[in-house]
Amino acid sequence: MIELFKVSKTVPSGDEKLTILHSLDMIIPDGQFVSVVGPSGSGKSTLLGLIAGLDAPTSGEIRIDGQAITGMDEDALAQLRGEKIGFVFQSFHLIPSLTALENILVPMEIAGARDALARAEDLLADVDLTARAHHYPSQLSGGERQRVAIARAFANQPSILLADEPTGNLDSGNGRHVFDLMVEMNHKHKTTLVLVTHDHELAALADRQIHLRDGRVIKDSLEPSLDQETEGEAVEASRQ
Ligand code: ADP
Ligand code: MG
Repeated sequence: MIELFKVSKTVPSGDEKLTILHSLDMIIPDGQFVSVVGPSGSGKSTLLGLIAGLDAPTSGEIRIDGQAITGMDEDALAQLRGEKIGFVFQSFHLIPSLTALENILVPMEIAGARDALARAEDLLADVDLTARAHHYPSQLSGGERQRVAIARAFANQPSILLADEPTGNLDSGNGRHVFDLMVEMNHKHKTTLVLVTHDHELAALADRQIHLRDGRVIKDSLEPSLDQETEGEAVEASRQ
């Protein structure tokens, strides 16, 4: 489970401060598939980075499976990420000097996993790339690279998969294939999936959609009460 309690992020911007996220409260239960949508600059990547512990909030607290990650040192965070969190990036982030299979093996070897090779081969088969095992990233198409990155993200059996616009660099056909694979892997491994996407059609296929704007949740499909700012304002006004 992912829990955010009044999480905000403020960064210096010249002489002023820029608030990227405003006091966010959010609970994402185990196994949920959430899509996060919102215009560029609305804070989506910042949110994922905070959940992964790659970045620290300015205030508030984040808990992963009940454990507060806010204030953990770098080593503890790295360990937690290695055990619990898989990440898929828009630009794949594969290691160019390693083959598809080796890219998937690396996180398992770091974690000292048993049967690493057999598991890496299974993961490659899951993303339909057995025939490309010994190809280097430069020899793969964008869609194939992202499928390797997805297999790698599942290497250590994370309970949470975070994906930041994973289909953003792909054409719609390959994007859909990558999306379907992530959903399939999510079901198979019972992972919590937080997917940032610009594609509203794909976002609509999630269990839950969270809309960010200017660092605030303006809509959450599981919390209709947040819906339609104008109606909310009307209710506020009628109370006064
Ligand atoms: P999104 O992923 O929704 O496009 P981001 O989370 O990347 O949005 O960024 C939100 C806003 O915060 C943007 O205006 C971006 O320029 C700004 N921003 C993000 N990180 C930093 C930083 N480290 N320093 C200054 N501004 C930042
Ligand atoms: Mg982003």
